[in-house]
Amino acid sequence: MRRNVPFYRHALGAADAARVAAVLDSPMLTSGEVGRAVETQLRAFFGTRHAGLVNSWTNGAVAALLALDIGPGDEVIVPAMTFVATANAAELVGAKPVFADVDPGTLLLTTDAVLSALPPRTRAVVPVHLYGQMADMRALRTGLDGAGRADVRLVEDAAHCFEGSRAGQLPGMHADIALFSFYATKNVTCGEGGAYVTNSDLLAERMAQTRLHGMSAGAADRFRAGAYRHWDMARLGTKANLPDLLAALLPPQIETTRARLPQRAALARRYDEARAGLPIRRPARDPGTVSAHHIYPVHVPPAIRDEAIAALTAAGVAVTVNYRAVPTRAYYRRKYGHRPGEFPVSDAWGEGTITLPFFPGMAAEDQDHVAAVLREQVAPLCRRAA
Ligand SMILES: *Cc1c(COP(=O)(O)O)cnc(C)c1O
Repeated sequence: MRRNVPFYRHALGAADAARVAAVLDSPMLTSGEVGRAVETQLRAFFGTRHAGLVNSWTNGAVAALLALDIGPGDEVIVPAMTFVATANAAELVGAKPVFADVDPGTLLLTTDAVLSALPPRTRAVVPVHLYGQMADMRALRTGLDGAGRADVRLVEDAAHCFEGSRAGQLPGMHADIALFSFYATKNVTCGEGGAYVTNSDLLAERMAQTRLHGMSAGAADRFRAGAYRHWDMARLGTKANLPDLLAALLPPQIETTRARLPQRAALARRYDEARAGLPIRRPARDPGTVSAHHIYPVHVPPAIRDEAIAALTAAGVAVTVNYRAVPTRAYYRRKYGHRPGEFPVSDAWGEGTITLPFFPGMAAEDQDHVAAVLREQVAPLCRRAA
């Protein structure tokens, strides 16, 4: 029983190629009018005062931490269950990532976990909307303020949650800044890219610099109206601007992403139904949220996880792992002496999780095949391990 099921397939096509070709026909390949129009679109989408494009979530987060003057001697709280980039951004500006364990049901960072971790040198918290389900940003802000830590900044990792929400709150509403990723497999993609939204005028002004070498004017501004304008460098920046060549792919996706969300929800529901009665679990749904359904990870007993991956692979099903706990990765173990078991919820999830193929347009027959492999091969492994 074998059927090749890809893990992911993008939906970009000829119309998108034409959009890129139009940029090639213009004099401006780097950040210009095309990106500026997308930034206007993002402000409207999120209802924020400011939005900007960046060339990845990671570079955008580095630019954001630089804009917040976070660096050596500072600590940044991040969940132990996330992609390494969340912690790496703090590390890249010389700050120390302080890991907090996540809620055993939703796998999201909770206010209690943050308040009990809170070291005195904490400058920021980076909650992650894992797999598309939003962390409670309002509760985090209120909790920090109530603990006398109004000075602690909230930087949202919304890489999984472009079109999700929580009780009507969107990313960016209760944070100092929210960052998105347009990496190849994300819900909205231009191959590599990202964006930020913020309601802070000061932060927006600083981000405009820290995403582009710290310069006071971008290329489009320096040459505007045919007259050269000198620029200054007031603060250190990185190189995080998104070229128009890639920004050109974004407008149609941003416009349709909310309308396409029910398709993702329906795919998730089909997997939920296929799992019914099987000893294979998934993270708890928080009824207060509308998930962006970024990916569909499940959990099996850690002892048989790799055997389950081998069985799925042999049956033609492409799978991956999102994620093994960040503090257990060699770099963080070595640098900070983290040990497996230190963040029990994240560790246990990370050692048992498998991400199934999941993308809009996925064929029902393909999903049925994955379900059959789960039922006939993975479930028996789970029962044996129990
Ligand atoms: C993809 C991802 C990132 C990094 O995004 P890039 O655009 O590749 O830098 C950060 N955090 C999470 C949770 C992600 O899934």
